Amino acid sequence: MLQRNKIMRKTAKYDYGECEICGTRMQEKLIKQDFWIRGDLIVVEDVPAGVCPRCGEKVVKADVGRLIAKLIENSERIAKSPRISVPAIKFDTEEARV
Ligand SMILES: [Zn+2]
Repeated sequence: MLQRNKIMRKTAKYDYGECEICGTRMQEKLIKQDFWIRGDLIVVEDVPAGVCPRCGEKVVKADVGRLIAKLIENSERIAKSPRISVPAIKFDTEEARV
């Protein structure tokens, strides 16, 4: 019985309410979140978040935020994680004028 309750709680959808910006109902999605830690860019994948289908505003629950904080302060976990390469573009005022 206890086991069943555990599973139920995990799959139950959290109500993120309405978007603070435009008032549209938020939908739960798995998103990528990026963090800069001591000069390194860290990407956390599959973060459950409320996403506004209209303006793209994102909201993360407080307990999810706490879990992310734990994940990204674990330098051993970071060292073991797969790497991705991302484009790095220099800011250029000439280029932006085109
Ligand atoms: Zn919105």
